[in-house]
Amino acid sequence: MFNAELIEGLCNLKTPFYYYDTNLLHQTLVSIKKAADLYNYHTHYAIKANANEKILRIISSYGIGADCVSGHEIKRAVNCGFKKSQIVYAGVGKTDDEIIYALSQNIFCINCESLQEMEIVNNLAFKVGKKQRVALRINPNIEANTHVNISTGTKSTKFGLSSNELDFIISNKDNFSSLLIEGIHFHIGSQITELTVFAHLCAKVNLINTRILESGFKIKHINFGGGLGINYEIPEYQIPDFRKYFAIFNKNFVQRTTQSVHFEPGRSITGQCGMLLTRVLFVKTNENTKTVILDAGLTELLRPALYQANHKIVNLTSKGINELYDIAGPICETTDYFGRSIKLPETQRGDLIAIFSTGAYGEVMASSYNLRSLAEKYFSDEILTKVHTLI
Ligand SMILES: *Cc1c(COP(=O)(O)O)cnc(C)c1O
Repeated sequence: MFNAELIEGLCNLKTPFYYYDTNLLHQTLVSIKKAADLYNYHTHYAIKANANEKILRIISSYGIGADCVSGHEIKRAVNCGFKKSQIVYAGVGKTDDEIIYALSQNIFCINCESLQEMEIVNNLAFKVGKKQRVALRINPNIEANTHVNISTGTKSTKFGLSSNELDFIISNKDNFSSLLIEGIHFHIGSQITELTVFAHLCAKVNLINTRILESGFKIKHINFGGGLGINYEIPEYQIPDFRKYFAIFNKNFVQRTTQSVHFEPGRSITGQCGMLLTRVLFVKTNENTKTVILDAGLTELLRPALYQANHKIVNLTSKGINELYDIAGPICETTDYFGRSIKLPETQRGDLIAIFSTGAYGEVMASSYNLRSLAEKYFSDEILTKVHTLI
């Protein structure tokens, strides 16, 4: 991924910054598109994973739809070329303004996450004289076997309609006369690496689908959400196995001929195409531990502090003998570490460090905590010209 010329170019840029390999993004998109087309599956990229406008324009150019979780994400998606007819809008706490905006945009559907939300969307749709397509986001109470902080499909989480709420909706269809209840939606978590979890999800969805169809709802689309994990340990396995992933659904989900199947991948599309480049500010020794202090911290990449996530860390400029280091950021927080006991070649002030797999939930979660400036971003297809103008 890094050749000498690129490393030299990167060394001239002010750190920290995000670096995006647009070539890899294109390859990933070709791969998911091909795999989804095998079964006529629809994909809606989850904007929240990476909302960078250039990244979004590349993704929308493949005819993929968008999954949004705020009014601003809908606006951004439309501005970046996603078709309104392919935009879904989820989220557990939509404000009235956001709902009214979504109603005005004629998007594919609003995914409702609670009974109260259904009532509010119904009332607001009635007020503007509209029948709004919605999907019921159902909490299937399934264990995703991922980090508890990114698990969304068990009944202890705030997400989705509970089975009691679903019972109520089924017996009170007429309460929602301004809604067209056409879909059911599930999203049970993120960074799911055990594919059997998706087979369990299908089994649960088959039961729910049958039950809702039998209750007289004309469910036209089933949305399985996102969640496919990526390989953080070996980011060189760059493109997730989308064929294997979709094959699980093809095998386990009983699709009716009148129904379309949808997915909302986020991380699996953009995760591996991004990385965070940062310089070593200091190397200090506490007790027997050598700690590398970087100029990037949880303000540029929150995942390690938030989810105990591990990202591969490489020293791009040292050829020394390997040693063990704790890798920390500059932020005044004890959780501001990217790793402990990480093997790196002898590391010194000024070395350029790459932190891999930051294309999803990296730049989007950046903050200016400690009043830091937001990091720059560079793209592989622009970098050489940029490097020239900077020198
Ligand atoms: C976050 C989210 C996704 C994307 O999840 P990934 O694990 O990044 O694929 C999809 N759908 C919904 C509703 C989400 O909240």
